Amino acid sequence: MDEAIELARRGVIVTVFGDLMMVPATESSLYGLKTEGADVRIVYGPHDAVEIAEKNPDKDVVFCAVGFETTAPGIASELFRGVPENFSIISAHRLIPPAMELLMGVGDLQIDGFISPGHVATIIGVNPFRRFADAYRMPTVISGFEPNDVLLSIAMLLKQLKDNDPKCENEYIRLVKEEGNLKARKVLDEVFDVASAHWRGIGRVPESGYVLKKEFEEYDAEKKYELTIKNSVDIHPGCNCHLVIIGKIYPPECKLFGTVCRPEKPYGPCMVSSEGTCRIYHKYGAHFK
Ligand code: SF4
Repeated sequence: MDEAIELARRGVIVTVFGDLMMVPATESSLYGLKTEGADVRIVYGPHDAVEIAEKNPDKDVVFCAVGFETTAPGIASELFRGVPENFSIISAHRLIPPAMELLMGVGDLQIDGFISPGHVATIIGVNPFRRFADAYRMPTVISGFEPNDVLLSIAMLLKQLKDNDPKCENEYIRLVKEEGNLKARKVLDEVFDVASAHWRGIGRVPESGYVLKKEFEEYDAEKKYELTIKNSVDIHPGCNCHLVIIGKIYPPECKLFGTVCRPEKPYGPCMVSSEGTCRIYHKYGAHFK
């Protein structure tokens, strides 16, 4: 986020998904920069950002490539097909199985099973999730996102627990194939290498991010603009997002929940989007009591 803000300050057109606008960076957010007049534009996908670059050949355009295995193939296929010279990306994709692996190494978490993300498995297939049942005896169900999918996935996990039979099952069979999406996996392999990556508040996690391969590094905004952000604040004082997302605390256990940090004025990243744990808890938490 700090890099995107730095580029917006330098006059680059910064393109982002809408839910990134309010994410707090060290001093401000992209929304804050936009209110000060910077050219920050919301896009619905990487192709929109490429089109902006094509229509503005005299300007530099950067796309904040943030997301998981699900969003990365879209940007990979744009780069593979060819983009204008004035286009580049900040590659901040993160990978899910290495983060789950990290959780397995955190001793005092009370995890009884994984409801694994069906959209990620749609791309990478079932295999990367098998390890949790095979190596750790952790019940694992790849799940869709409809309420009935989640309910069925929980029922499948409970049955595994009752039978003491941990395995990796696929509830989302209408979309997730054993091998995933071969075309998407191929273009990811063509464009990205897997490398260790930083997770906010957690630190570096091995093999958990995508970096552009050498052949594509001219589109790497970090290199193109020689970005070196100094004194970047990882987690703002008092924010416990890193503990929330690994399941160590519930959002209300953060002292700032609902007071300093609210959906209309998020202090930490988990309160920003409708998919953020603190934001969800703020909306529905009363039902959990
Ligand atoms: S309530 Fe806000 S500050 Fe606290 S952990 Fe959640 S996002 Fe961070």
